[in-house]
Amino acid sequence: MEQAYRPRHSDEEYLREEWWEDRDVDLRQRTLRMVTTRKPHGCVGNGHGEQHELPSGSRALYESCLYDGEWVQCWLCCRCMDAWLDFINGRAAPSPQEEG
Ligand SMILES: [Zn+2]
Repeated sequence: MEQAYRPRHSDEEYLREEWWEDRDVDLRQRTLRMVTTRKPHGCVGNGHGEQHELPSGSRALYESCLYDGEWVQCWLCCRCMDAWLDFINGRAAPSPQEEG
């Protein structure tokens, strides 16, 4: 059984970041909050890592929004967010499998 990942940043720091800024989302119809998952979900990844399974009991950023006329829900785990924050803060190299 995999140990739950321990977040290295506060909820406020995760929520302050704009994780999906390239999307055309109606911000008035959007819910964004930190949650502890009660059942397994998929993590959408941070744009560098791949999408992966997120076990129940994981700390994650949850988003519900109206995107392209449809309601979507997504989860982004703290492990992915920490990796991204390390990257933008210059503490880690980008993933070798970076797209582009
Ligand atoms: Zn993740």
